Amino acid sequence: MQQTYDVLVLGSGAAGLTAALSAAVEGARVVVLEKADLLGGTTALSGGTVWIPGNQPARAAGIADSCESGLRYLLSLSHGLILPELAEALVQRGPRYIDFIHEHTELRFQLVEGYPDYHPERPGGLPRGGRSIEVGLMDLADLGPWADRIAGVPSHLLIRETPLGGGTGVLPAPLLAERSRAGAEGLGRGLVAGLLAACLRRGVEIRTSTPGRRLLTDDGAVVGVEIGTDAGAGTVSAGSASTGTPVADVVLARSVVLATGGFEYDPVLVRDFLRGPVTRPLGAPTNTGDGLRMAMRVGARLGNMREAWWAPAVSVPGVRRDGGANGLLASRDRALPGSIMVNGHGRRFANEAANYNAFGGAFHQLDAARFEYPNLPAYLVFDQSVVDRFGVLGGGPGAPVPAWVARADSLGALAAALGLPAGQVEATAAAFNAHARAGTDPDFGRGESAFDRFPGGRTLDPDTPSSTLGPVETAPFYGVRVESSLLGTKGGPRTDPDGRVLDVDGDAIPGLYAAGNVMASPTGMVYGGAGATLAVAGIWGMSAGRAAVHDPKSATSQERR
Ligand SMILES: Cc1cc2nc3c(=O)[nH]c(=O)nc-3n(C[C@H](O)[C@H](O)[C@H](O)COP(=O)(O)OP(=O)(O)OC[C@H]3O[C@@H](n4cnc5c(N)ncnc54)[C@H](O)[C@@H]3O)c2cc1C
Repeated sequence: MQQTYDVLVLGSGAAGLTAALSAAVEGARVVVLEKADLLGGTTALSGGTVWIPGNQPARAAGIADSCESGLRYLLSLSHGLILPELAEALVQRGPRYIDFIHEHTELRFQLVEGYPDYHPERPGGLPRGGRSIEVGLMDLADLGPWADRIAGVPSHLLIRETPLGGGTGVLPAPLLAERSRAGAEGLGRGLVAGLLAACLRRGVEIRTSTPGRRLLTDDGAVVGVEIGTDAGAGTVSAGSASTGTPVADVVLARSVVLATGGFEYDPVLVRDFLRGPVTRPLGAPTNTGDGLRMAMRVGARLGNMREAWWAPAVSVPGVRRDGGANGLLASRDRALPGSIMVNGHGRRFANEAANYNAFGGAFHQLDAARFEYPNLPAYLVFDQSVVDRFGVLGGGPGAPVPAWVARADSLGALAAALGLPAGQVEATAAAFNAHARAGTDPDFGRGESAFDRFPGGRTLDPDTPSSTLGPVETAPFYGVRVESSLLGTKGGPRTDPDGRVLDVDGDAIPGLYAAGNVMASPTGMVYGGAGATLAVAGIWGMSAGRAAVHDPKSATSQERR
């Protein structure tokens, strides 16, 4: 059976659902095909924060910022890898994206107050925040049968209430109970829920367990997608919760939007393209580079292939609902006074408080003499004062440290338990402690940036280095292995600002669009601030969905690079 649509979207994360909504708003008949049996991809697992320079909530709060200043900031970090016209489109379209979301969904963006940019001292950077925003709470119960079809686990917190966003992670019990009763959720699941509800209202058809396999072409133009034969079970049609709806082997469409996320779960693509080792990804396990392969088969030009939204991660026992291995983004814990990180030689190797994307670079440093990656794996070491004052690994202040974390009464014993050289770990901590007491880190400059001081600064004084520098000295001591991870890869087919996929000569491939982590990111190796990845997904989704409806099929890109 063949079915024909105006726009076919592959993937149901932020990029895919935004593209679908955008196309539907333009009056198109739209279908979203999702490979997994749950919707939302990595987006549903995320914090749902979006990074937009010159955004409306910041302006309302009296924060001085502009798109131009955001562009200056991004370009100051480029190292020659950012294409200025794409970065310009990103910042110029950010406020328009907020208007789009506010006009066509029930989502409402709010400021995550005080969240600094990731490199706030760069030209155009904001040390006191203003660019990171999040959607408010969404009532998932309104989604009816779709409510339990979104990946991730329910959380009734906003990002600014979590330790990552500057809160404690602890809500008054009556408030938590009220939100839980109402099914009110924020973060990534709230974002997905709001987009999904808007898509359904516009008549977008959504099918789960339906992977796109290959693009269908006719005289060089993309005209549809061959879909997986494992589709069917768990398939849900828009407006009903019926399962097992028969699906076609081929779905025809005037335009196809690739929004299939990154290639982080495909070991071959990871080996062939990424700049350094990755030992465990954090996102949706169905992100295996399918869209990348589809685009390569029809001659797409590739870009930014070595890059990812890098992150250090801690493995947690157990498996998630979507089949991915449990894990935690190791972000705030590294930056708190009373914690350090060491490598396998027992030595510190970077500013632990640096943002997670930049920290990924420390994992990829090669020791030229030994020809080894000395910082892989690494270990987070912290003392009881961190547990008592701030809480660790997602827990609030004083919350018990999980049993799978190593613990010992002395640093030497902890090092032995972790398989590290005890004498070196003790010496490393002693040197760090002496400097920390004086409020300096001559080795790695920890505490010099406002970003370093943000996590501890919510409890302590954000203007002094002691909000991140504090001696590791209060027994018991704890340690856990930290791995090289990522939130998603950011290389793929090159697009123009409207998401048109370009071929190897720089011409648009008629009928083919891409948005989100599947495409070559407009930010090179830069992660500007909390929410920068969802901003790319949302803005390119919005633009690609619109272009997919209005482009004449023979359109070619003006952009030849
Ligand atoms: C713990 C965590 C927290 C994060 N927090 C934030 C944050 O607060 N702010 C931020 O900006 N970023 C955050 N990120 C990163 C962010 O979630 C991702 O970069 C973003 O969600 C990518 O969106 P996407 O739509 O491109 O891909 P995804 O959301 O991953 O969606 C891709 C979808 O495509 C589907 N798919 C794959 N192949 C096929 C196929 N062949 N056919 C059909 N469908 C297919 C997948 O199953 C998936 O559902 C976080 C990530 C993690 C892991």
